[in-house]
Amino acid sequence: MIISGKELSAKLKAEMAHQVAAFPQKYGRVPHLVVILVGDDPASVSYVTGKAKASEVVGIRNTTIRKPADIPEAELLDLIRQLNEDDTVDGILVQLPLPEHIREAKVIETISEAKDVDGFHPLNVAALWQKQPCVLPCTPKGIIKMLKAAGVEIKGKRAVVIGRSNIVGLPVAKLLLDENATVTIAHSKTVDLPSVTRQAEILVVAIGKPGFVTADMVSEGAAVIDVGVNRNPATGKLCGDVDFAAVEPKASVITPVPGGVGPMTICCLMENTIECFLNRQENRLV
Ligand code: NAP
Repeated sequence: MIISGKELSAKLKAEMAHQVAAFPQKYGRVPHLVVILVGDDPASVSYVTGKAKASEVVGIRNTTIRKPADIPEAELLDLIRQLNEDDTVDGILVQLPLPEHIREAKVIETISEAKDVDGFHPLNVAALWQKQPCVLPCTPKGIIKMLKAAGVEIKGKRAVVIGRSNIVGLPVAKLLLDENATVTIAHSKTVDLPSVTRQAEILVVAIGKPGFVTADMVSEGAAVIDVGVNRNPATGKLCGDVDFAAVEPKASVITPVPGGVGPMTICCLMENTIECFLNRQENRLV
């Protein structure tokens, strides 16, 4: 079974649109997401456009602020601080990656944790690992939703996550652990990776290497989640980290690229923006 992130996200966005439609009467306004795009990297432009389109579907106000690639770091941080103070703004997202002269960590920690719709702020990350209320990072949150929507029981399963980045691998592993899976995190120094991945009943791949996971690395009946977004070197088309054609016949469920985790990430961004809005409206702590 192919888990369509496109279909699931369309359904969830329609539900959110219904929820948001009641906000003007209840709260006097709709949630407001501000996205900052530095430079004009084509992939980043396309992600930012996708976020604006999704906001329109859900009925969220979206402001995209474009800044040149050579913007001084101090100016970007000042802009973020102004948005932190702006009561009409509920969510702030700075599209990553940033030009080399700007420290990403500095940018992330400058965004108020109450408006950190990406869930990257150190206080949100700490809260996640301490099982405290927090904004969950969008991609990991979307992955858990997809597994649940596909009817995959997570509790008690052996899960393997390939990749240990702060934005995907580590938080996915934590969320799977919180769902009571037994989790192994594999990485570039893992010895005999195929013997590890063949143990997986749930396999999440977040590496960034086209077609890296081959059929011999996957056990029969595994649920396979492909987070990778790459260009196929031969065709130039978008592809994942998993050799989809070879792995799909073995997997019980699998996500495609494109149309899998990507749309769910944006969907969860919409959900997080609504959550930050409601937290502020109802004076709830994040
Ligand atoms: P990243 O920061 O570059 O991390 C890559 C991870 O893969 C690292 O932990 C690295 O291990 C591991 N790795 C690299 N080569 C490996 C190998 N040969 N064997 C085992 N592990 C290996 O990347 P990321 O930000 O997590 O993103 C991963 C992919 O997901 C990218 O394609 C990215 O575009 C995509 N992505 C998609 C979405 C979405 O919404 N669909 C969101 C975010 C990211 P070490 O730690 O040992 O170096």
